[in-house]
Amino acid sequence: MVVSPHAVGIDIGGTAMKIALVRADGSIACNTQIPTHVAAGAAAAVPRIVAAVRALGREAGLAPEALQAAGIASAGIIDFENQLVLDAPNLRVWERHPLAQEVGRGLGVPFRLENDVNAMAYGEWRCGAGRGARHLLCVTLGTGVGGGLVLDGTLYRGACGAAGEVGHITVNRDGPACRCGSTGCLERYVGSRYIVERAAHFLQRDARPSVLRGMAPVDISARRIATAAGDGDALARAVLAETGQWLGVGLASLANVLNPERIVVGGGVAAAGDWILEPARTTLRQRAMSIPGTAARVVPAALGNHAAVVGAALLALARVEEERA
Ligand SMILES: [Zn+2]
Repeated sequence: MVVSPHAVGIDIGGTAMKIALVRADGSIACNTQIPTHVAAGAAAAVPRIVAAVRALGREAGLAPEALQAAGIASAGIIDFENQLVLDAPNLRVWERHPLAQEVGRGLGVPFRLENDVNAMAYGEWRCGAGRGARHLLCVTLGTGVGGGLVLDGTLYRGACGAAGEVGHITVNRDGPACRCGSTGCLERYVGSRYIVERAAHFLQRDARPSVLRGMAPVDISARRIATAAGDGDALARAVLAETGQWLGVGLASLANVLNPERIVVGGGVAAAGDWILEPARTTLRQRAMSIPGTAARVVPAALGNHAAVVGAALLALARVEEERA
């Protein structure tokens, strides 16, 4: 029987819930994924989560006392005091349901609820690409663009748990409308659907041959563009370079305000790697003030899809340790 301390990390997304048993060093003992079934409601998910965690415990040969905490990561703005999800567009009917409390009770362990991008930032900071940094900005590039902050060695949530919304900083006052109600947000330039939109513009105005021309418009995705860039497609590379420049515009402002030593970039779009990150680094250095611009090292995330479950589990273990102290 395994008796060393473990925590379970549960990452709740709109379609799937990732669940992992995590050791105190951040390594994953075993993991699984179950469907979220949002419409069935949060209460119906609790017994399914508890059963999945128990099954993982058996798979890992975990002694009952070895499971010490449950960390739950959810999209949305989190009321940290009351441990409730307040505002989550993909989980609307789950809002304000005491899911973390019920999972904690079901498993008989202390629990902690955290925003998923905050959990990811914490995971990358503790045992991923942010290790060793005291001041870290973590940016996720996907359909949405999110951010998490570790400042002075502490996860920073802001006054209402809404800190780190880097996707919705303005990079162009006169830019296109954003789903948040503003215009010209960073997400409008680097979110995956807008990368696809950029590719469509390039295909219209740029005569260069490209593998993207042979694809039906609905088949062009940020991932396909990244693959094409990797295969030497100059037009795909130009699309990602322009995307990276916009990212750099946002990061330059963030570097000026926060002076992070590391900026970790993750999420699905980050799979494009240096085709986006290198132009982002160049623009960051050009536009940020010299000292914060030089200090901020832009690196790809290291934990991939697992960052949020690892971060949530480690945050929950940290809470147990704080309460013991
Ligand atoms: Zn916005």
